[in-house]
Amino acid sequence: MEMGREFPAEKTMIGLVANDDRYDYDIRTLLQAFFDNEKIVADTANVRMVFKVTFHEDKEHCILFTSPEGKVYERHFSGNYKDKMQLRNVVKNVVYDILCEYTGHTLPWGTLTGIRPVKIITRLLEEGMSSKAAKQHFLSAYQTTEQKADISLRVALREQSVLKDIAYENQYSLYIGIPFCPSRCLYCSFTSFPIKLYESMVEDYLTALFLEIDFASHAMRGRQLVSIYIGGGTPTSLSASQLERLLKKVEESFCLEDVREFTVEAGRPDSITLEKLQVLYHSPVTRISINPQTMNDKTLELIGRAHTVEQVKRAYVLAREVGFDNVNMDLIMGLPGETMTEVSHTLSEISRLKPDNLTIHSLAMKRASNLNIMKEQYEGMLYGTTDEMLRRADQVAEELSMQPYYLYRQKNIPGNFENIGYSIPGKEGIYNILIMEEKHTILALGAGASSKYVYSSEDRIERTENVKDVKLYIERIEEMIERKRSML
Ligand code: SF4
Repeated sequence: MEMGREFPAEKTMIGLVANDDRYDYDIRTLLQAFFDNEKIVADTANVRMVFKVTFHEDKEHCILFTSPEGKVYERHFSGNYKDKMQLRNVVKNVVYDILCEYTGHTLPWGTLTGIRPVKIITRLLEEGMSSKAAKQHFLSAYQTTEQKADISLRVALREQSVLKDIAYENQYSLYIGIPFCPSRCLYCSFTSFPIKLYESMVEDYLTALFLEIDFASHAMRGRQLVSIYIGGGTPTSLSASQLERLLKKVEESFCLEDVREFTVEAGRPDSITLEKLQVLYHSPVTRISINPQTMNDKTLELIGRAHTVEQVKRAYVLAREVGFDNVNMDLIMGLPGETMTEVSHTLSEISRLKPDNLTIHSLAMKRASNLNIMKEQYEGMLYGTTDEMLRRADQVAEELSMQPYYLYRQKNIPGNFENIGYSIPGKEGIYNILIMEEKHTILALGAGASSKYVYSSEDRIERTENVKDVKLYIERIEEMIERKRSML
């Protein structure tokens, strides 16, 4: 790449070329984190900037970065590049240092681009490292901020304490998906269909789902079920009597003696009624979610939630009156039109309600979401998640006597932030931790549900997916069951 090259202003691609592609994914994810998902191509023609990576057998490796202004950054480093275990973090640190120098900023998670950063600290603790040393290693090996290292350690310690009695080998969790919602939220990428349009299919959906439940209850006989999660979609989009039949079916099909948690997402306040809450309360359900996402009416309208702040409060008060003593609330940081002012308002409203769990998400630009598809329309309104928002949320959680207990990251979160679950000790959503830890099988039923089979003695994880489309799920239910049978 020659110096002083002119980059045409209209080109927005990054060229990544390497003589060996084994680190391409790692370099790409870092580039994406710094340049907010700018397109990356394996070419040097018609691109705005170029990363050229050359590995050598007998001399130092070289990374050359040519910026859009034509400035060249050159770094050399050594090590056996064929040993990815050994060199992966070195390569990432070299790339990271170049990008920090060029952009003039750092990333909160440093070189970490994976979904489960806590797993790294957990492993270090399991290997016998002290908390202090594990945190120090995290800071120096991955260049995270002090705050991210600290929260990862707090989450790892909390997870260990919550999961200490779980014997993964013979236990499993169950997920049931109800893929209907009152309307589609702007940022949604889940399997979700508007209930009004799909009403005529709900009965057939439940019939197919009950067949899958029958299969699962037989196939898992002899294994202990420890947690159940009914999500979706919004399960409370079903009518009270459909919900009651579903819960009865679960109760009759599985032994619930060892179930430590049974969560139902009553997510959308516009789907909640007193009758449905009573159905849930008089079943084995132990935990529900009522999700405001924001406590600003203007934003709720903008993101297509079709409910008001007042409805959130009413649904929450109703749930408490019915008797629920474990209620989660989800919030999203970085929603369109929201800055620190709106987030502060939301957090102070939530702090008055005093839920038992608080889940803080950072807005992700999911490919399949309407937000991403129509992103031009929201240009100038997406101020993103900030460190300050997450710090304030952490502070509010602490004021509510909560501790962080699970954390994960997603692709396409501008600014490379994370999602964190907080809970009052003893009320943690165990299913949420189990799905992150990947230490036991999670059998997932319903349209779009993805099962994870953990064979711990072989250190192996396999997955099966159900089709997302409701009609196809109903038509091909036998095939969905067969996919599971082959795994079990
Ligand atoms: S409530 Fe959840 S699943 Fe339903 S549309 Fe909104 S984001 Fe998607």
